Amino acid sequence: MIAAARQGHALRGELRYNEPLPRRTSWRVGGPAARLYRPADRDDLIEFLCGLDADEPLLWLGLGSNLLIEDRGFPGTVMETQGRLTALSMSTPTRLRAEAGVCRAKVARFAIRHGLVGVELLAGMPGTIGSALAMNAGAWGGETWRHVALVHTVDRHGVTRARGRADLETGYRHVVIADGEWFLEAELQLPTGDTGAAQARIHALPDRHAAAQPSALRSCGSVFRNPLGDHAARLIEAAGLKGMRLGGAEVSRKHANFIINTGNASARDIALLIARVQSEVEHHSGIRLIPEVRRVGELSS
Ligand SMILES: Cc1cc2nc3c(=O)[nH]c(=O)nc-3n(C[C@H](O)[C@H](O)[C@H](O)COP(=O)(O)OP(=O)(O)OC[C@H]3O[C@@H](n4cnc5c(N)ncnc54)[C@H](O)[C@@H]3O)c2cc1C
Repeated sequence: MIAAARQGHALRGELRYNEPLPRRTSWRVGGPAARLYRPADRDDLIEFLCGLDADEPLLWLGLGSNLLIEDRGFPGTVMETQGRLTALSMSTPTRLRAEAGVCRAKVARFAIRHGLVGVELLAGMPGTIGSALAMNAGAWGGETWRHVALVHTVDRHGVTRARGRADLETGYRHVVIADGEWFLEAELQLPTGDTGAAQARIHALPDRHAAAQPSALRSCGSVFRNPLGDHAARLIEAAGLKGMRLGGAEVSRKHANFIINTGNASARDIALLIARVQSEVEHHSGIRLIPEVRRVGELSS
């Protein structure tokens, strides 16, 4: 539960109860959040955390494009960052600061406007900067943490910290951060370069995606991480699973590592299909695929 704000520190954000989550996720499935907080800004978010009960489950939400929220919903507080922590500025001519709720495409365009390159890949995937840090989001060999100079974090007591890149272990779609600590802001150190070419790379992204992915359909992008030296999509296709369907969930015929909500899928349909793909691929190739998608909430029985 949520305790009141500390004396003399009124909260300025918006607290909602029993808030539906499907429209906040790209799969459009899942039950409601018991509580959802939309902070007014960073200080208000910190104030909210200071008043939070120690045992309140907390889920930070970006654009919900990598989350499978269970049908019974999330039994705690969802912290909405998108459209909330939105400050974006230059701190030096080559260093950019972006708060956690800023959309990635905006960061890529902002960098180019300031003569900087190297983060065009951020424009090619949905999501906020906070979750790009949390997941080390990437594509085509590039990844978010390559350009991170510093991050600012907050824990559930409202204590903020600045951490350098060397302070955190990062790898392929993998970042180790203390349990109960989240990203508030990133400082990216970027090179100057050919911004015309960078702009052209961004413009080419939609066609590149449309050719390879079911971009217009409801998905969460790649469901599984690529195993070392191989591709999850190749293994799924080799196991003959393209087009496999369970309830309203379907393995995409265009990109086998995508699972589509064809219209009326439940979270359970998707979770069962993920488990089925995992076991069929393991049976076929001996490789156990590891989901990239994060599953949260109360399991339905
Ligand atoms: C069509 C499509 C294409 C995609 N292509 C790619 C791709 O090429 N490469 C790729 O890497 N991904 C891709 N994805 C997946 C998705 O874009 C990424 O995983 C992205 O990082 C998720 O961002 P989000 O803001 O939607 O995060 P969410 O789904 O909202 O959250 C993801 C995780 O991050 C955590 N989180 C969110 N904000 C914070 C914060 N401030 N601090 C700490 N933790 C936080 C959440 O709690 C959750 O665990 C694709 C998805 C779709 C739908």
